[in-house]
Amino acid sequence: MPLTRIVYCSELVKNIGSNEISDILDVSRENNAKQAVSGVLLFNSDYFLQCLEGSRAAVNRIYCRICCDQRHHNAQLLAYGEVSQRLFGAWSMAYVPWTEATRTTIAQYSSSTEFNPYQMSSESVIKLLEELGQLLLTSEH
Ligand code: FAD
Repeated sequence: MPLTRIVYCSELVKNIGSNEISDILDVSRENNAKQAVSGVLLFNSDYFLQCLEGSRAAVNRIYCRICCDQRHHNAQLLAYGEVSQRLFGAWSMAYVPWTEATRTTIAQYSSSTEFNPYQMSSESVIKLLEELGQLLLTSEH
């Protein structure tokens, strides 16, 4: 089964607290690890950007479940396809919190200073994810 990557963005339906983000991460890490799925979740106060990588069947199954989750809506695929290597192989679901450093990194790949993944090209999104993967590795060592 080919290694497949799904990248999507979505919008919050309401303000959710850090507890809910931490619940999402806990469930994600447990479920994804069981299915050898890795990825990253980026969240600011309005939008989610998430990357899932693993077998085609697993990432599609998880993505379909995520799309039914009423904590967010308007999920839009930004990139989908087979890949030769994982970007987030070390994490069942890494989390990138919204910090000044995150904002600065994102600004390199966006046409405006505000983070709006719906406005980003697939190419910019993948480059952003590559950079975030490197930053996560560096910050853990
Ligand atoms: P249940 O928790 O029983 O869920 C049943 C249904 O209710 C599902 O459709 C679920 O989406 C929805 N749901 C669950 N909790 C709530 C809530 N508090 N408010 C509204 N609806 C709710 N899961 C993963 O396994 N891997 C991931 O990488 C992942 N990433 C996510 C990213 C985002 C941005 C969000 C919002 C959710 C993510 N989830 C992820 C959670 C996922 O949507 C499911 O809640 C989870 O996988 C458990 O689903 P379930 O059907 O087993 O069980």
